[in-house]
Amino acid sequence: MENVVIIGTGCAGLTAAIYTARANLNPLVLTGTMPGGLLTTTSIVENFPGFPEGVDGFELMTKLQKQAERFGARVKFATVEAADLSRRPFKLMVDGEPMETKTIIISTGAGHRHLGLESEHLLDKKGVTYCATCDGALPMFRNQPLVVVGGGDSACEEAMYLTRFGSTVYLIHRRDELRASKIMADRTLANPKIKPVWDSVVTEILDVKQDKVTGVRIKNVKTNAESTLDCAGVFVAIGHVPNTQLFNGVLDMDDAGYLKTTQGSATKVPGVFVAGDCSDRVYRQAVTAAGMGCAAAIDCERFLGSEDN
Ligand SMILES: Cc1cc2nc3c(=O)[nH]c(=O)nc-3n(C[C@H](O)[C@H](O)[C@H](O)COP(=O)(O)OP(=O)(O)OC[C@H]3O[C@@H](n4cnc5c(N)ncnc54)[C@H](O)[C@@H]3O)c2cc1C
Repeated sequence: MENVVIIGTGCAGLTAAIYTARANLNPLVLTGTMPGGLLTTTSIVENFPGFPEGVDGFELMTKLQKQAERFGARVKFATVEAADLSRRPFKLMVDGEPMETKTIIISTGAGHRHLGLESEHLLDKKGVTYCATCDGALPMFRNQPLVVVGGGDSACEEAMYLTRFGSTVYLIHRRDELRASKIMADRTLANPKIKPVWDSVVTEILDVKQDKVTGVRIKNVKTNAESTLDCAGVFVAIGHVPNTQLFNGVLDMDDAGYLKTTQGSATKVPGVFVAGDCSDRVYRQAVTAAGMGCAAAIDCERFLGSEDN
């Protein structure tokens, strides 16, 4: 019987592991298929506090894991396949083996929605990115034309943010008006550095041969006319998919699948807490995920320490 099982080893899960381990709860931390989480896929993280020169994402996550292990967290390479939260102790199926636990911290993260183009995949991190806040300030994008794909609030936010760095920001959207809230859409379209490209989809990101982004091929969905746009970066902002399918119908989620909390990090099931991008539709940053991991660990510790539990 485990005291606490932490599902996921991104910033949220490993921070929860540090706190619950230091509280002598002997946490078991399950990595899933991506040990270290999303941040391991990026080379340089420039906005995590405490690293004036920036830090390699993989290195940061390795250090977080070591920090948790130093206080007794057990990190296991394993994936949760099913969860029965109907009564305590909770039952998990982990790589085909049953497991019981008094509490759970869910920190399974969220993935980005992709355009689904082969060139997008091949040029990932070579000019194709999914996070303007994370990558917009990189030297490769400074004073260059940039492309944002999408038409919702996130796409508008990304485009506005990128106007600080790019020479021009093309906002490519498949419709003839933005899906974003009116205030955000108005503000975006009023920005002289943002040029909307309506009724258009990206059909290819150029140039795989040069191994870097030099432009995009676009198609007008009304006329089928094709054209190209020069740019140094493509920021894909067409949404996220939280990794919460395991809890469909069991825990409350919003329309996009983000887990909902009742108070602090608590869910409607007492003893089940959430942290990080799987429950954060708004910020989705390493440091906010870490902060939420801390909060979930403290909530979990208090829950286990309360008289009734
Ligand atoms: C390319 C890139 C660059 C980024 N750069 C920055 C940056 O510079 N600064 C910044 O603040 N943020 C950045 N981010 C965002 C940042 O990575 C995320 O906000 C952060 O990783 C969220 O942490 P998390 O712990 O919530 O989830 P994640 O890091 O997504 O971790 C989720 C964890 O859950 C595990 N998991 C999922 N399902 C299961 C399961 N069924 N069983 C067990 N485990 C499971 C996964 O294997 C993984 O370990 C970047 C993201 C990307 C993709």
